[in-house]
Amino acid sequence: STHVVWFRRDLRLQDLPTLSSAADADRVIALFVLDDTLATPGPRYTYLLRCLRALDDDLDGRLLVVHGNPVDIVPAVAREFEASAVHVSADHAPYGSRRDHAVEAALAGIPLVRTGSPYAVSPGRVLKADGTPYRVFTPFRRAWIEHGWRSPASTDATIVTWLDPGDADLRVAIPADDADDIVLPPAGESAALRRWRQFRDDGLERYDTERDRPDLDGTSRLSAALKFGCLHPRTLLHDLRDRSDSGATVFRSELCWRDFYADVLHHRPETAYRNYNRRFDAIRHDTGPDADRAFAAWQQGRTGFPIVDAGMRQLLAEGWMHNRLRMIVASFLTKDLHLPWWWGARHFMTHLVDGDLASNQHGWQWTAGCGTDASPYFRVFNPTSQGEKFDPKGDYVRRWVPELRDVTGKSVHRLPDGPPAGYPLPLVDHAHERQVALARYGEISARS
Ligand code: FAD
Repeated sequence: STHVVWFRRDLRLQDLPTLSSAADADRVIALFVLDDTLATPGPRYTYLLRCLRALDDDLDGRLLVVHGNPVDIVPAVAREFEASAVHVSADHAPYGSRRDHAVEAALAGIPLVRTGSPYAVSPGRVLKADGTPYRVFTPFRRAWIEHGWRSPASTDATIVTWLDPGDADLRVAIPADDADDIVLPPAGESAALRRWRQFRDDGLERYDTERDRPDLDGTSRLSAALKFGCLHPRTLLHDLRDRSDSGATVFRSELCWRDFYADVLHHRPETAYRNYNRRFDAIRHDTGPDADRAFAAWQQGRTGFPIVDAGMRQLLAEGWMHNRLRMIVASFLTKDLHLPWWWGARHFMTHLVDGDLASNQHGWQWTAGCGTDASPYFRVFNPTSQGEKFDPKGDYVRRWVPELRDVTGKSVHRLPDGPPAGYPLPLVDHAHERQVALARYGEISARS
């Protein structure tokens, strides 16, 4: 018998339950469909192409890449190779689950076998005692730890016999990428595992104290690898099973945030584009040419707030931004510029190499105050003191904002002598905008 393993967000061969699931087949076709809906040029697509090249190398050139709509392509491949089953890791995100139902129908009786998911605990599995989903992170985490996760699947390229698709009719070459202007993390499973081991052995111990410091290399930078499944969070959790130091404990908790937001989006798919807390539907946003100009200044990193500008420029240069910066710039957009969170979320999704609908939209909503477990709306980040606290020597700002390279120490956050030539004055008065944000929040609170 021939089976298809259709790769999506699981571009690896180790700890891959779909491979165990296909292991009884005589021959296995490795398939990836370049779906136009997801193939938008940008850093994330470039990284994906590099991951595909790495996977194809690990399969000795036997990855069948096909361009088109999976609803047509997957059944066509199954027919061409007379396959009797198609194996996938389950996709719980709104687009992915709709697509999989449509593919399942189009397969007309050839089973679509879902095994595992990109999460330590599949979305929908952790429920309250009354069977309803959690709305708050901390109790979710408690239940998630209690639920536990499976051991890694013992798989590698050798557990199935791969069929060489040769020059199958539908096959396309993996497109070349031309993103030389952006520095992306090394792509593919081996690179991700190397990075993980290095971080586990050299960085994790200090993670608890350094993870909030954008001037230090204190986090794993594995988000893109996790996004595309070059490694599975279960592999990491398993590696940490005997560690109870605070670094490992906090890292486990961060992986839980990823599971939590996927769970939230699974239960409330409409929250990809709408407020989780519907009371915020009534909040007033700024509109018009001034709002558009402010948004453009934010996007380009020209707000005159050094820490905000440094974060926005790191995003453009690396397709990645430190978590503390994501919170600072998101707070600035929503509470200092009074713009809708989804404007910022869309900009992030365009540029982030780890851009993920669940983590991004809910990270934004959390910061804007309209999400789950929200940081209270009235807690408005002060960009200047955030800069001084988390970039205490000013090194992060100087790295990303060349106009400020000659300003020494932490005065780079306040610019007591005014902005140097070429750097803008602050776009807004933070103390005033904070009051505006609180007043608008007061309007919607009074109504409920
Ligand atoms: P580490 O600190 O090493 O954390 C390890 C892993 O845990 C991360 O790779 C990630 O998979 C997960 N993780 C950590 N923090 C979070 C979190 N708050 N929410 C969900 N997962 C988390 N993360 C994304 O993967 N994709 C996004 O599109 C995304 N958008 C965000 C938008 C906003 C406004 C905010 C505030 C956060 C967003 N995050 C997103 C979460 C977080 O900023 C990144 O996961 C993290 O910065 C990635 O760097 P790292 O791999 O070095 O993280």
